Formats: sequence, C-alpha cells, structure tokens
Amino acid sequence: MNADPILEETLIKRSQQKKRTSPLNYKERLFVLTKSRLTYYDGRPEKKHKKGSVDLQKIKCAEIVKHDSGPIACQNKYPFQIIYDCNTLYVFAPTFESRSVWVKTLKEEIRNNELIVPKYHPNFWAEGVWQCCRQADKLAPGCEEYNLFGDITRKPLPPTPDDVLHTNLAGCVYKPPSPLPQNGDEEDEEEELVLAMYDFEALETHDLNLVKGEEYVLLQKSDVHWWKAKDKNGCEGYIPSNYVTEKKSNNLEKYEWYCRNVNRSKAEHLLRSEDKEGSFIVRDSSQPGMYTVSLYTKFGGDGNGSTRHYHIKLTQGPHRQFYLAEKHLFNNIPELIEYHQHNAAGLVTRLRYPVGRKGRSAPTTAGFSYDKWEINPSDITFMKELGSGQFGVVRLGKWRAQHKVAIKAIREGAMYEEDFIEEAKIMMKLSHPKLVQLYGVCTQQKPIYIVTEFMELGCLLNYLRQRRGQLNNEMLLSMCQDVCDGMSYLEANGFIHRDLAARNCLVNESHVVKVSDFGMTRYVLDDQYTSSSGAKFPVKWSPPEVLHYSKFSSKSDVWSFGVLIWEVYNEGKMPFETKTNAEVVEFISSGCRLYRPKQASKAVYEIMNQCWHEKAERRPSFSYLLLMINQIMECDC
Ligand code: ADP
Repeated sequence: MNADPILEETLIKRSQQKKRTSPLNYKERLFVLTKSRLTYYDGRPEKKHKKGSVDLQKIKCAEIVKHDSGPIACQNKYPFQIIYDCNTLYVFAPTFESRSVWVKTLKEEIRNNELIVPKYHPNFWAEGVWQCCRQADKLAPGCEEYNLFGDITRKPLPPTPDDVLHTNLAGCVYKPPSPLPQNGDEEDEEEELVLAMYDFEALETHDLNLVKGEEYVLLQKSDVHWWKAKDKNGCEGYIPSNYVTEKKSNNLEKYEWYCRNVNRSKAEHLLRSEDKEGSFIVRDSSQPGMYTVSLYTKFGGDGNGSTRHYHIKLTQGPHRQFYLAEKHLFNNIPELIEYHQHNAAGLVTRLRYPVGRKGRSAPTTAGFSYDKWEINPSDITFMKELGSGQFGVVRLGKWRAQHKVAIKAIREGAMYEEDFIEEAKIMMKLSHPKLVQLYGVCTQQKPIYIVTEFMELGCLLNYLRQRRGQLNNEMLLSMCQDVCDGMSYLEANGFIHRDLAARNCLVNESHVVKVSDFGMTRYVLDDQYTSSSGAKFPVKWSPPEVLHYSKFSSKSDVWSFGVLIWEVYNEGKMPFETKTNAEVVEFISSGCRLYRPKQASKAVYEIMNQCWHEKAERRPSFSYLLLMINQIMECDC
C-alpha cells in the first residue's frame, strides 16, 4: 500500500554537490512519490534505475524556489526545493501547475513530521552564497519564515546533540571540516571528466586554456555555456561548454570522424571540398538516435566524384548489434568504423580518411569570456564596411587583433538603448550553431556598438539573389533546415524573433545559414517599422493575428518561416511581388496563400501551408517542422 505512487513525473534534478569536487549539473529523473519515500530514477518508466531516494519523514521543508537572479540553466523553469538532513534538493518542474501539485502534495505528506524548519532560504544556493540573503555558509540559518500551511502549529526543533560544534536554525549539524554527512541512499555524484574537442585560449584571468585532446575535471555547470573546470596541473577556470565532450566510453563525440550537426547536404559539401578517395564522416541520421556514414569516392557518378550514405543498422533480438553491410556485426559503432577502415566489405571503398572536425574552425562561444558582456572599445579595430540597416552601419572588425567580428554602430535616435542593453545580457546567453552569436556590447560611449559573429557571405536574401539558377534542391532545403534549427532553439527558450525573413538571416563561409536580429524590433525607435500599419512593417511575413491584434508568439514566427521557405525556393524573390501591404492583408484575410514555387516539391509546399494555418495554435512547432524537413532531406534530395 505504502509503495503506491501518489505522484510520478519526469522532472529535472540539480546535483547536490555533496563532495567538494562533484559537479553542478542538471539531470532528467523520473520522480516517484509514495507515502513513505520520494525516489528518483534514471531512464524511462518501463526501464528505470534507482538513483536516489529521500525518506519523507526526514523532510523538513518543501517549497517553491523564488528566484530572480537570472535565467535557469535547464529547460524546466519552475524550481522547488526539498530540505532534508543537511541537504537541499532542487527539482525543476516543466510548468507552474506541475510545480504547484508537487509542492502541495509534499507539504501534505510531511505535515506531521517531527522536524519542520522555522525558517528557510527562499532562493538558490549558488556560486558559494545563498542568493536570498548572501550568506556564504551553506548551513547558514534560513532567512525567511517557512509556512508549511497558513494555519499549522509548527513543532519546535528538538534539542541538538552534545557533540554539535555549530548548530543552525535549519537544524543541520555542522562539523567542520568536510566531508558533509553522506547518506548511502543518495545518488553518487562522481567526478565528471571531459575531453577538449578544440583548443581554447583563455581571454580573461578567470578563464582556463583548453588543449585539444586533453582531459579536464568539471567543477561547476551553473552557467549553460561556461563551465568551471580544472586541468591536470590543478589550474581552475571557466571554459566554453561547447568545446568539450564527456569522456564516457559510449560517447561518439570524442572520435575525429563524428560530426553531430551535419546533415546530408552539408556532409556532401564537406566531403566534396576535401575531394579525397575514401574520405568519410559519421553523422546523426534524420531518424532520431540513428547514425549514417557518408563516404566519398572520386570514381563514382559522372567523373566528379560522389558521396554514398550508409545507415548504420541494428540487428533485431535481445542482443542488438550494429552493421553497415550484412554479416559484419559489431557491439558498438567505433568497432564497426575501425573494421571498415581496413575492409570495404560491401562499401564503395573502405573508410580511408576521417574528415570530422579536422581543419574546421572552432564553434562560437557565448561571449568571449565567462560573465562578460561589456566589450572594451579599445580592443576593437575597424576594417571594411559590410552594410547598413535600420540601426546604422555595420563594419567588419577585429577583437584583440585576432577574432573577426561584425560591429554595428547604433545611429543616434534609432534605438531604445537602455532597454536593449538590459536585454543584451539575456541575448548573450542564447547560443546555438544556427544563431548569429552576440559577443557583447560597448555601452560606455556614443554611438554604442553591438558586436556579433562575422558572417562572411552576408545576408541570405542577397546570397540567394546572387546565386540564381545555381542552387539545387538539396542546398535550398538545407538553408531552410538551418533556419528551422536555430528557430527551434529560440522556441525552446521561449524567445520570439518577431521579424524572421531572409533579409534577417546571414550566411558564413561554410554556407551555413544563421538566424540574426532576433527580438531586435522591440528596440526600434521608428513607428513606420513597429506599427503594423507603418510602411516598413513586415506585413508580407506576418500572420493575421499579428496584423490585426499585434499578437506575437513562436507561432507567428512559424508563419514568417513559411514565407522564408518561399523566399528561399524562389531564390530571393519578393513575396506577393507587386502587391501593396494593404492588398496583402486583404489577400491573406480572404484565405488566399502564396503559390507553390517551381523548385518546391509537394512535401515542401505542404510544410509552407502548415506554417500558414489561419489559426496560430494549429501551426506546427519549429521542433516538429525540423523533423519533417530532416525526413524530406533523407528521402527526396
Ligand atoms: P540592422 O539591424 O541595423 O537593420 P542589419 O543587421 O540588417 O542591420 O545589417 C545590415 C547589413 O549589414 C546586412 O544586410 C549585412 O549585409 C551586413 N551585416 C550585418 N551583420 C553582419 C554580420 N554579422 N556579418 C556580416 N555582415 C553583416
């Protein structure tokens, strides 16, 4: 009876960092609450492994976390806390409602416990202090009265044992020095080891150099993009999280031949530019969880060389094995690759030459350094002009004489600068391979500068127009896929673009398209641009609910994305051609839509039409659109 679950849900758990070296991380766990215990498991409900458990009788407080100190580092945004023994367990629920149910139910279950704290910390313990009262002792007494229920008669804490050196109001016994008391039932938080995939040069004293191939111990993961780590010499500092990969044995990322973010079209481009017999990569297949080997031969096709794509298949049955060509079965992918590096065994040629990350430039980082968004203008040198837009002139430049950047000088009176500067701190934290990275701002002078990633091939609209007649279906779909990928990230982070269009995407030297200028219309000081009746308002990219009620959402971005696909497949033609804005509103309101571009297959046009559903809630999400595009990429191209 006691084992019957009262609540069961997959939530995110923050590591408790009981050992000094254990990392701060966030892990998805299945939480199960019964009358006697709160237990959390790794894995799906049908195949779960117990990772830890808390005896309900030991819980002294269950409450929401009131946080106001910046964004939360995991995708679930509703934290609550459970205090038991000397520990605080932070759990993150996906919705407000889910959190309310957990907190309410836990409070109900612990109402008769012996120990209930009189005071607690309403905010997180983070970066060595309680964020609510700034006390730097993890066991410091709570700073706000705890109200289990409005009307409860709280039981006092029992007397503390004699051997106590220091007792605090939370009832925890502090026996310096560490280690803190361990409970055998808790999740074992082992040291997390990572390998550097790229070199990183520390730019500030609080950062740490990375040497490709070397190992590092993670100390803290409280910021998604900058982790604190320790090298083999004991030096500590911040490193960009996207430059390292877990050292676990089943992690493919440590192999030179594995490229995570490469689709079919990009794989072909990459292999063609190497033009070496037997060059290959292993990449994620469009089917989630599956992999594909893309292999280049100079002697296939019409004499120009060609790329073959082989799915890595799995045998049926309880003991599943991997294979590329029948009869050659392997327990894991590295073994399979190793074998085919020596034996073609059914492939067009053996896997001779891993292309992978070799020679490819390192990814961008969220800012140049941890927690640094103000850039010193004397670190910038200006080079040529790249273009100009709503906010002013954009120039190519170098930061500290080394890193190429784009610098936007904001024209006087063009922007709500103060509001933007506040928002820039949040925008810096948006970091994704398909978003133009914001590196920082120079705000201490006029004009203020916005410093971003430099995109060699300029804006997507011109890129399309300059290459008319030269772009095949695969390239066109790959551009849409890049944009959709970047937009899925914005959608997942609850960030609305508001002006998605080909003119607001940029292309880099590897022909990767990235989304730019996200959220920026909110800071434009020009009614003609911001009011839906203004001459510069992007009417042709806007859904009915934006035109009529200015109702922006990720679903209004989805509509704009449909128009962007149309622009791509028409190689940069103006949508609705000569129609005026007023005619477009009329046209859309009467249920008409843009026609199918000649190059767009039925499947691609179907995607556009789904984006243009009159009802916002019936439009697909970007994450669903990405799945559909990936599927078309593997089948049609
Ligand atoms: P605004 O936001 O002021 O309207 P845009 O972002 O549209 O300005 O930039 C104007 C032009 O400058 C773009 O069309 C593009 O040609 C160029 N540009 C802007 N940002 C970059 C960049 N990061 N890399 C390369 N070129 C850029």
